[in-house]
Amino acid sequence: MARMIVEAAEALLDKEIKVLDKGFVRLVDYMGGDQRIVQSARVSYGEGTKTYRQDRGLIHYLMKNWHTSPFEQVQLTFHTKMPIFVARQWVRHRTARLNEISGRYSVMKDEFYLPSPEHVCYQSESNKQGRSESLPFDEAMKVIEHMEQEQKANYANYEKLLEGNVARELARANLPVSLYTEWYWQIDLHNLFHFLRLRMDAHAQYEIRVFGEALAQCAKAVSPLAYEAFEEHILGSVSFSRAECEALALMLAGKDHALTGRSLQSFDDKVAKLKAAVPAEQPEELVLPVA
Ligand SMILES: Cc1cc2nc3c(=O)[nH]c(=O)nc-3n(C[C@H](O)[C@H](O)[C@H](O)COP(=O)(O)OP(=O)(O)OC[C@H]3O[C@@H](n4cnc5c(N)ncnc54)[C@H](O)[C@@H]3O)c2cc1C
Repeated sequence: MARMIVEAAEALLDKEIKVLDKGFVRLVDYMGGDQRIVQSARVSYGEGTKTYRQDRGLIHYLMKNWHTSPFEQVQLTFHTKMPIFVARQWVRHRTARLNEISGRYSVMKDEFYLPSPEHVCYQSESNKQGRSESLPFDEAMKVIEHMEQEQKANYANYEKLLEGNVARELARANLPVSLYTEWYWQIDLHNLFHFLRLRMDAHAQYEIRVFGEALAQCAKAVSPLAYEAFEEHILGSVSFSRAECEALALMLAGKDHALTGRSLQSFDDKVAKLKAAVPAEQPEELVLPVA
């Protein structure tokens, strides 16, 4: 089959999806889509092209049963711009290929991240890696002004070093992690879903979560059925530990369980997610050929 063209993805190509104050996600290119997933999966099941409903059933079946390799057949290339502290979290996802702007070669631009006031929050008491409620508006603005002053002073020092002909690779060393960086990033759909599961989660930092949402928009355009299956079987699913399974069984039987403190909080969050579930329309039941 010739190169796969997906209209919704074509419409997104080269368009910057704005993220945070100065960042973006831009879909540069893609290879494959839902049709590539079903084609490659049917190599293992020895079947040819089917109807849309059967393709949808197959994609849901693959996602539900962790038959992940057909999703690796779809590739996406992005150009993204984000603060360095976001890039530091992003780069932990090793199953991608990237090329980043070089601060040794180029003069880094005077572009720093400043949060909007509602995202200037107090340290969370319950989650050492998280935020709690926002500061009062005036206090938040003072924090933002303070951050901006520091960024300006830092950049002025950087420029002074460059004017003195200090090497760019050294002059940049004191620039803060709020500075924006850019890279090309290529990843397959299976590993992008892994990234999105972790980084769109409520426990991920807000500043990377919003990039996750922009990447998700592109994934959805390239492979809408795969994205629907990802939402249904991964994003929308809830996993319970053994102790939580016991607590759930007791709860369903109308009995008390023994969970307390943070364990109880985590359990309650999962039960709330269960209750809020809005499932996709049931996909066609897949009947695999008998081997
Ligand atoms: C909310 C949150 C908090 C976090 N906090 C911290 C933190 O405090 N400190 C910190 O250092 N990190 C932290 N991380 C990063 C986290 O530990 C992972 O490194 C990151 O999420 C990437 O996940 P991954 O390794 O599964 O992804 P990928 O690198 O994309 O790998 C996908 C899978 O491939 C396999 N794999 C890939 N490369 C290797 C390899 N070299 N060896 C073995 N297996 C491999 C693994 O099975 C892995 O799960 C945090 C992540 C999240 C989402």
